[in-house]
Amino acid sequence: MDVIARVDLDRKKAVAAVVAAGALAGAGFTQAMATVTPVDRIVPVAATKDLAAAMTAQQPEAIRTVHSLNTSSETLKLLQAEQIEVQFNVREALKSAEGAYAKRQEAVKAEQARLAAEAEARRPKCVRPAQGSFTSGFGARWGTSHNGVDIANAIGTPIVSVMDGTVVEAGPASGFGLWVRVQHEDGTITVYGHMNTIDVPQGAKVKAGQQIATIGNRGQSTGPHLHFEVWVGGSQKVNPVGWLAARGVTL
Ligand SMILES: [Zn+2]
Repeated sequence: MDVIARVDLDRKKAVAAVVAAGALAGAGFTQAMATVTPVDRIVPVAATKDLAAAMTAQQPEAIRTVHSLNTSSETLKLLQAEQIEVQFNVREALKSAEGAYAKRQEAVKAEQARLAAEAEARRPKCVRPAQGSFTSGFGARWGTSHNGVDIANAIGTPIVSVMDGTVVEAGPASGFGLWVRVQHEDGTITVYGHMNTIDVPQGAKVKAGQQIATIGNRGQSTGPHLHFEVWVGGSQKVNPVGWLAARGVTL
């Protein structure tokens, strides 16, 4: 069916409104235009014989152009073209928004990495193995050699690794009841004895200050305390007081 209609300069807006409203989908031209177009802007003319009368009738100032449209082809092409343009614009807007979001996420990640690096730089490299009273030093004691220092505190007090390292042993040990040995980057091994609980498995990577056990009274012990040794190079037992002091830690 041919339909002749007069369309004013707002046609594009009206068509865009049709597309935006989704009225095109499954709807014929006449129905779609009737949905959105005020009667005073578009005057459909049902039959060709009415055209002359319609053209000579007094028209509102706003009506400037006359289009002859075929519902089965040109109009749908026009509407489809408009729809394609709208879809393109929406896609471009989404792409742009996604790009901005990705950039923002990158910036957030970079900031998180910067803060993590700062925190890592501030983190102490060496710490006390436990809080408590220094009760026994390194050296000759009771006719034998005391190969470490003792720090006394209540059962359950946290024991921490003095530096970053790897747990090379965690379990029963002669004289110590239980022990944990942590090897550090330079090969030095620190030894923690008599503990009540062991809180890390063998093979675990630990950080300076990370809890590895709790103070106990197991093995040959005269009361709840941590027995702490330092084996330089993995075997040479040295006085932990001097070794820790060289790393800024006072017992
Ligand atoms: Zn001891």
